[in-house]
Amino acid sequence: MNRAWRVGRVAGADLLIKPSLLIMGVVLVVVFATRFDDRTSTNPYVLAVAFVVGLYASVLVHELAHVVAARGYGMTVQSVTLHLLGGETLIEGESRTPLQELWVAGVGPLASAAIGGACLAVDDLFSGTVGALLTAMGLVNLLVAAFNLIPGLPLDGGRVLRALIWGVTGRELVGIRVAAWIGRIAAVAVLAVVAGLLVAREDGYLLDLVVAILVAGFLWTGSTQALQRLASRERLDGLVARELADTVTPVPAGALELSADLRGEALLRAISARPADHYVLTETDGTVAGVLSLTAVDTAFRRTT
Ligand SMILES: [Zn+2]
Repeated sequence: MNRAWRVGRVAGADLLIKPSLLIMGVVLVVVFATRFDDRTSTNPYVLAVAFVVGLYASVLVHELAHVVAARGYGMTVQSVTLHLLGGETLIEGESRTPLQELWVAGVGPLASAAIGGACLAVDDLFSGTVGALLTAMGLVNLLVAAFNLIPGLPLDGGRVLRALIWGVTGRELVGIRVAAWIGRIAAVAVLAVVAGLLVAREDGYLLDLVVAILVAGFLWTGSTQALQRLASRERLDGLVARELADTVTPVPAGALELSADLRGEALLRAISARPADHYVLTETDGTVAGVLSLTAVDTAFRRTT
């Protein structure tokens, strides 16, 4: 299920399509064909295909909004993947500030809401097939915006919440932890609500339960991955240059200077930017805190992974 087809490039990123998208497309056509029935004279299957194509196009616009926002901050966007439950934009590296994170995440649901609002604003001007299509496109895009704003990771709303907590408390990792746990709670809630409705209503669709299981699985997997990445970032942040320093050995010739305060990713980035066997660690007042060897960092790094 993890393979994807590369169908081209959009806005500087690879556009990938998962086979599950096509399977879901067929299911959606069948489901919506029965719902469009009787409303217009157009063949309901033609209408449903047009609707599903429009839906996927809207999802692509939503993802492209993320791409443009991320690239605007100089981030590299590797790929946009369209799959069963929508899309996913793979951005290299993390946002550097809460505001960047807020904008890159929030712009997707904003794009969906804008498409939805625009469709509903003009649907009355058209009668018959086009009007029915615009109404359906409007409602489904508002639904996509609302779903994505649930404040749990891996959804956009989870990234918005993470950015807000990061901005207010200054602690990014706390934001990730809270948003990831809300994502897990949302997974359980989606399943519970849909299963409850199925039991309460005798005319409930089994298909609703299948979709709920897929959505819950997507949320649970995504939030769990966020918690795992968080744990490895916390271990990495435990790597502090000063604590790895050798304070006995004299400074070897050719050692480069590094700040003793460097830790985690920033420490690894600084080392890979200026590779050397030894570094002199200096405090902010210019005093030498010790000698950091590449071997010491390497050994400590291996313990974190
Ligand atoms: Zn999004």
